Amino acid sequence: MTPIAVAYITAAQGGGDSERWTRMLGEALGRPVDMRVWPNIGRAEDVTVALAWKAPGGALARFPNLRLIVSLGMGVDHLLLDAKLPADIPIVRIMDEGLIGQMSEYAIYYALRHHRAIPAYEASQRARQWKVEDFVDTADRRIGIMGLGAIGTDVARKFLGLGFPTSGWSRTPRNLVGIACHHGAAGLDAFLAGTDILVDVLPLTPETTGMIDGRLLGKLPKGAYFINMARGGHVVDADLLAALDSGHLSGATLDVFNEEPLPGSHPYWTHPKVLVTPHIAGETNPRTAAASVADNIRRLEAGQPLIHTIDRAAGY
Ligand code: NDP
Repeated sequence: MTPIAVAYITAAQGGGDSERWTRMLGEALGRPVDMRVWPNIGRAEDVTVALAWKAPGGALARFPNLRLIVSLGMGVDHLLLDAKLPADIPIVRIMDEGLIGQMSEYAIYYALRHHRAIPAYEASQRARQWKVEDFVDTADRRIGIMGLGAIGTDVARKFLGLGFPTSGWSRTPRNLVGIACHHGAAGLDAFLAGTDILVDVLPLTPETTGMIDGRLLGKLPKGAYFINMARGGHVVDADLLAALDSGHLSGATLDVFNEEPLPGSHPYWTHPKVLVTPHIAGETNPRTAAASVADNIRRLEAGQPLIHTIDRAAGY
């Protein structure tokens, strides 16, 4: 069977996960994959499909017969930053149920940690102190999810399943059973006013860049908690630090940052109210993601409409 030539383009050292992608995509397609791992791309003319994650600028413009660009992450901001991104080639993203599940685990773990006052109990244990913290009823801890897409919907449903009053905010109207859905600029204030734990799972677009600033944080109730597992570019860091220092926010868990890796001198590292993780909330897993890529390659070859496509104008 003729192998399909696929370019695997990532800035990751050591070729990233190219070996697993070659195997898993081959299995999902039922035919061999001739994987060309950047920068060793061989004859660029052979390549029709590119798998990309933080590709070096201009790399995707190197393939004259390219017909499909696949983002190897669920975010696509890394692709749209490339000034030489070929204009007329469809972009799709992986749809990875495994990654979606990990994102929900992350949000729930850090929300429960805050909700059940675990940091206070850890401190009490260190002090050999038997001290019971104030009880907060789950029915009184309101979760607000910014972004009700593939990930935000799963996160929201799982919080709801745990008994938390759950709301969400999106660009266009959404309707999710049991979840208070708000949308657009007009819906933002009511959404924020009813949120005790804010979970950011928005894409990074021109509209969302820098939107989590002092004004927005000021609309959350006093004592609110913030979890950012989306993109650091949403946040004005100085404003978040000011909201934590003033006591308006009780704490934050941050997985993503304006600059990654987070510089060693950054105040987040040592801030007593901040938990830092190194962009690990959701890892793309070829085992769970390959089927969606294979599906799109089959659709492309059969001339059928692609799925999980990106709206370049909206930026996600
Ligand atoms: P989707 O594209 O499926 O959904 C995006 C959601 O955000 C939609 O509900 C959309 O609204 C909403 N949205 C977009 N722009 C705006 C806006 N201007 N105002 C209000 N709402 C807006 O994205 P996913 O759920 O798949 O992923 C979200 C993000 O999570 C990714 O873009 C990525 O940045 C991040 N991520 C982080 C990971 C990590 O490890 N930390 C791993 C994976 C993803 P509408 O429904 O109206 O379209």
